[in-house]
Amino acid sequence: TEIRELLLSRIRDVADYPEPGVMFKDITPLLADPAAFTALTDALAEIAEGTGATKVVGLEARGFILGAPVAVRAGIGFIPVRKAGKLPGATLAQAYDLEYGSAEIEVHAEDLTAEDRVLVVDDVLATGGTAEASVQLIRRAGAEVAGLAVLMELGFLSGRARLEPALNGAPLDAL
Ligand code: IMP
Repeated sequence: TEIRELLLSRIRDVADYPEPGVMFKDITPLLADPAAFTALTDALAEIAEGTGATKVVGLEARGFILGAPVAVRAGIGFIPVRKAGKLPGATLAQAYDLEYGSAEIEVHAEDLTAEDRVLVVDDVLATGGTAEASVQLIRRAGAEVAGLAVLMELGFLSGRARLEPALNGAPLDAL
């Protein structure tokens, strides 16, 4: 489709970043193009409205850039899920495995309630580890997961299959 072509044309492939053998998908050209950024925001906001989300959760750091305007456009709140140690208030934490070692993400415990339906937004779904941890975190905070929406899914890493049990029927949309 037209929007797919527009978005794809504004994503830059950077070889051997952050390490040899990795082809990094760089979204900064898309962010710099108001037509593309607006089209992306509108498409994600439509998904948010379709799922009946009451909150957008953005995953640090590019999920902040994409998720915040979506929340504003959809007229709902934005909640940051941050890397451990960055949030000042009482948090819930979720650890997850990386290729080498592990990582931890956090959310302010009081930001989500049992009344919330949450759309998780990020730029890239790769192995699905980050998204899976965020879904677990949102459920532990007592909220419902309305869905996961990303700009790009790297299909060869099979993140969608990994996420299926965690999503438990909630939709995964990749533009
Ligand atoms: P995963 O946990 O393996 O699915 O990795 C997803 C996380 O890593 C997301 O928060 C992405 O922002 C980031 N990420 C992984 N690969 C890329 C890429 O090629 N471009 C930009 N971000 C990426």
